[in-house]
Amino acid sequence: MLIYLLAFAILALAFATYFLLLRRKPTGPQKRIYHGYVQYLDDDGEWQYEHRRVAEEKVGGQIHKGRVVHHIDGNRQNNDPKNLRVMPASKHKRMHKRIRWAKKHKRRGEE
Ligand SMILES: [Zn+2]
Repeated sequence: MLIYLLAFAILALAFATYFLLLRRKPTGPQKRIYHGYVQYLDDDGEWQYEHRRVAEEKVGGQIHKGRVVHHIDGNRQNNDPKNLRVMPASKHKRMHKRIRWAKKHKRRGEE
């Protein structure tokens, strides 16, 4: 009789553990979309732009204040390292002006 009780207890415990593990939410980094960009919550509880972090990993250093990260395909949420380009803010502004102009005149510009 005792052996059945023991077997039942072990089985119940196994099921409980199994369901607890299944119900656990994924514990990846918290993310949100902010002004069309992907942000993640850092260790200090502050929202950071994901594309800047990816770009920093790509260039292997910090991205300085006057520089921006451009999304080559125009999709702000495509943070593939290949889609990101670090450039001075002034050059970035000029480039977007040119892209807008090209779109307006239905020409194929660099996007
Ligand atoms: Zn851009």
